[in-house]
Amino acid sequence: MEPWVPDSRLDRVLAGRADVPAVAAWWADPTSRVFGVDDQSFVTATDGELRSERPRGGYVPERHLLVGLVDQAAWFVAEASDLSGQGETASLRELATGLDETMADVVTTGVALVNWHRVAPHCGQCGAITQVREGGHQRWCPVCERPRFPRTDPAVIVAVLDADDRLLLAHQRVWDTGRVSILAGFVEAGESLEQAVHREIAEESDLTLTSLAYVGSQPWPFPRSLMLGFVARAQGTEITVDGEEIEWARFFSREELAAAVAAGEVKLPASVSIASRIIAEWRAGRLA
Ligand SMILES: [Zn+2]
Repeated sequence: MEPWVPDSRLDRVLAGRADVPAVAAWWADPTSRVFGVDDQSFVTATDGELRSERPRGGYVPERHLLVGLVDQAAWFVAEASDLSGQGETASLRELATGLDETMADVVTTGVALVNWHRVAPHCGQCGAITQVREGGHQRWCPVCERPRFPRTDPAVIVAVLDADDRLLLAHQRVWDTGRVSILAGFVEAGESLEQAVHREIAEESDLTLTSLAYVGSQPWPFPRSLMLGFVARAQGTEITVDGEEIEWARFFSREELAAAVAAGEVKLPASVSIASRIIAEWRAGRLA
């Protein structure tokens, strides 16, 4: 799989966002926009499209988070309840298909920022109330005199191939009938990504991996994951699932998967997910 670099024009203005008067001037600028994120990570929308508005009132660093600049225009994010427009919201998944890569970057970053500030008012070390810095990309503990950064939870997601290049797909018990994806799981404390891949695959399928390569990543701010994608080769094809989280798993050839999808027997992940992208790369013969 070719390394994938999003074609995003979002400028996170690392040099300018620490300057509070400059961020306040962006907030007041008539070209600036603000959108909202609610406590379910849903984004303000109208008829399934991102809804933003011109910022109003004075700039409040605690509430008005600077995502960055797009073509010189500033984009802010706030709690959805702070926006003037009424009601409607949509999930990032619903919105993403209608957004270009720049705006997908803006909205994903906005969701991640709002989710972080909602749970991070206190210093994780001493418990003091922290202050927003860097336009919302940091918080500062006045007691520890240290910056606090947004937390991200790494998770690995793995395309496991057998010797015949068949792909392992699994069905979780909590999913709709027929829905499948590649295996994934969170990285544990003190673990490397590679260790997490070997452990997860062993736990969920009892397969041993003989090779492993990184293919790409995707922020998944629900509430704060970063999905790290790998492709791995399995030794053998004997699968044992736990039967609790994973109900069944099996290897599919490309032809078998195409037939199962056409017959409605299996449903693949939504097109905005890294799982969907990795599966599509494999189906196209580009995942080695
Ligand atoms: Zn502290």
